[in-house]
Amino acid sequence: MTFEGVLTKMTTEFTSPVNYYLIFNDNFIHMNQLLDKTIRFSFVKYECLNCHLDKPIFRQGFCKSCFFDIPQAADWIMKPELSKAHLDEEERDLDYEKRVQLQPHIVYLANSSNVKVGVTRKTQVPTRWIDQGAHEALEILEAPNRYLAGITEVALKDFVADKTNWRTMLKNDIKDEDLCVWREKLIPAIPEEARDYIITNKKETEIQFPVLHYPKKPKSLNFGKTQHYEGVLKGIKGQYLIFEDDTVCNIRSNEGYVIQLTIN
Ligand SMILES: [Zn+2]
Repeated sequence: MTFEGVLTKMTTEFTSPVNYYLIFNDNFIHMNQLLDKTIRFSFVKYECLNCHLDKPIFRQGFCKSCFFDIPQAADWIMKPELSKAHLDEEERDLDYEKRVQLQPHIVYLANSSNVKVGVTRKTQVPTRWIDQGAHEALEILEAPNRYLAGITEVALKDFVADKTNWRTMLKNDIKDEDLCVWREKLIPAIPEEARDYIITNKKETEIQFPVLHYPKKPKSLNFGKTQHYEGVLKGIKGQYLIFEDDTVCNIRSNEGYVIQLTIN
């Protein structure tokens, strides 16, 4: 069976273990069903997720000109503290910025390879944690806009990481942490402006991923460099497919590539 379509991040369902779906234009694939099966990928062409043209992908699934133009790729996406919609100030498109920034945002602690702090829209809980491959996570603050969540994250970065080590996460070289203890330690560092929004009544969320075998030395696959790949799927964690030969494919960093997927 062969499918063809442009890669976008897998849709997930918070079940135990997580269910993963690869969505194409006219159909979808339930990836959990492909565990232990041989899958072949072939690169077909690029398709920018915004303009849909066959132009090299620059970042986040967008071609270079879209990346520097559209509101979905502005700096405040990666750096929430740069958000300005609450001041009525436009970056690229004020309507879009108000819609996305002026809604409840969560500051959380998540443990994927180490304890880290992060920000996400409330509607993205627990999707965001699944996408990062976190096996445990805890909400610590619910702010009314992205800016307040962003400055909280910046303040906490002095005490806790803000990045995941993807190799450690995939090798499952992980430790259980009591995130409620971390929350107590970090609360004093939350900035004055955001202190009204601290939440202390949440419990850790635990996440189980569908993995039969973890890689020992993960090798990263990118369809821009390797145009054909065939392997036996052994697991899915975060947005990574894990294969028997230790190849791992981050679907997120392959967004905007049109591929053909054949299942034997
Ligand atoms: Zn484009």
